[in-house]
Amino acid sequence: MIRGVIFDIDNTLTDFMRTKRAAVDAAVEMMIDAGLEADKETMKEKIMDLYFAEGVEDQRIFDKILKKELGRIDMRILAAGIVGYRRAKHGTFALYPHVSPVLFELRKMGIKMIVLSDAPKLEVWLRIVGLGLHHHFEDIITSEDSGARKPDPRPFRAAMKVLGTTPAETLMVGDWPERDIVGAKKLGIKAAWAKYGDTFGTEPGKSGADYELDDIGQLPGIIRKENGC
Ligand SMILES: [Mg+2]
Repeated sequence: MIRGVIFDIDNTLTDFMRTKRAAVDAAVEMMIDAGLEADKETMKEKIMDLYFAEGVEDQRIFDKILKKELGRIDMRILAAGIVGYRRAKHGTFALYPHVSPVLFELRKMGIKMIVLSDAPKLEVWLRIVGLGLHHHFEDIITSEDSGARKPDPRPFRAAMKVLGTTPAETLMVGDWPERDIVGAKKLGIKAAWAKYGDTFGTEPGKSGADYELDDIGQLPGIIRKENGC
């Protein structure tokens, strides 16, 4: 009987990489307009590569890229990049299709929900509140709470403690097999892979999850089936 669902957020509820790419695109455009001499497409690629190397939550990525490219930080260009990034980020931050109705439906079914992320806690709250999702979730658990990142069992245990569920009563939904799915399965939590959010090129059938989702809209049906109703 599934009574609680743990959701990853980035690339599971929100189309995070699309937002990131749109924000980087706008940032580079603004930096070039402010005087940066660079080819737009090449610069965008360099920034995305740096994000993948340094972590997608790196807050000083433009400082780093300017230092690397110019050997110094030009404040006019840096500010232009940050402004372009922020504007585009706020305008493009979006949920995957059907996320909102699914969360309403699960709540109606009496399912308790929580967000489990390795991103900085305030950043996660800002995303959740910004998208108007904060009333759906009991809480948000990050590595700041449990002292460990997925797939370590600690953050999963912390999430279940808030939900008041056992592993058998919990379902994990996430896009990252090595973290979200492996972490859940270690504790005997059922897992659904958000295949629609895949950015790692995981092959269908190889996620290790109990369910693979082409669309998050499949989730209520899966839970009904699990619960025999
Ligand atoms: Mg994710």
